[in-house]
Amino acid sequence: MQTDLEKPEPCGRRVDALVGPLQQLAEEIRAINQANGWNVTQANEWADTYKVPAILALIHSEVSEALEAFRKDDGENFMEEMADVLIRVLDCVGGFESDFDAVVRAKLEKNRHRGIRHGGKRV
Ligand SMILES: [Mg+2]
Repeated sequence: MQTDLEKPEPCGRRVDALVGPLQQLAEEIRAINQANGWNVTQANEWADTYKVPAILALIHSEVSEALEAFRKDDGENFMEEMADVLIRVLDCVGGFESDFDAVVRAKLEKNRHRGIRHGGKRV
């Protein structure tokens, strides 16, 4: 039996009470980015063979900025750049996935059983 909280909204999204914190953050990020005039990822852009690679390059640029902050021993800027990484990741996945929290939880559960250093990898 489906309760009111489990019924999907007309747009296909679950009601807020069941949306996880990552998905809520993704939606907030996307709203802010749109308000600031940026494009946000749309589900149909998965078919565009240039869109996702461009987004991944932008995520990588934020990782590189974090590396530079680390090299300069700037912990405050390092955290800000890591926040940029998360913002770009959630902006991207928010366009393709409506329950990224579940995806992360499933991956964590998979990792839980991968064993010591995931089968003996060095790093
Ligand atoms: Mg940055």
